[in-house]
Formats: sequence, C-alpha cells, structure tokens
Amino acid sequence: MIRGALKTVKCPTCGKPAVWDKQKNPARPFCSERCRLIDLGAWADESHRIPDATPPDFDPDGSSNQNR
Ligand SMILES: [Zn+2]
Repeated sequence: MIRGALKTVKCPTCGKPAVWDKQKNPARPFCSERCRLIDLGAWADESHRIPDATPPDFDPDGSSNQNR
C-alpha cells in the first residue's frame, strides 16, 4: 500500500473520482459540496422516487374487457 495515497470513490452525481477523506472532502462520497447539493436536490425533486407499485398491465381504460 502506498503511503499517502488517497482513497477515492466515484462521485454519484458526476462520476468523477471523489477523495474519501474526512478533512479534505467533507462532501464525500461526492467530489464536492456542489455535487452533494445537486444529489440532495434531485431527491427533493423526486427524480429518485421509487416507482409506484402499479402493475405494468394495469389498464385504467378497461380496454381489456375479456372478463366482462
Ligand atoms: Zn461530482
């Protein structure tokens, strides 16, 4: 192991290497505070929302009326 080598992780927002070091990078696992806020904003914007549990064959128009 190389002494002084910094462990890096892939930033979830932009994919760049992010330094995994509490002092050097408080925004980890993101590469910067900016990316951290972008990710938080995405959550707030519900773009990370869990897909709803509606089955893919659910048909609100009732066009598949074979059972009627
Ligand atoms: Zn980033």
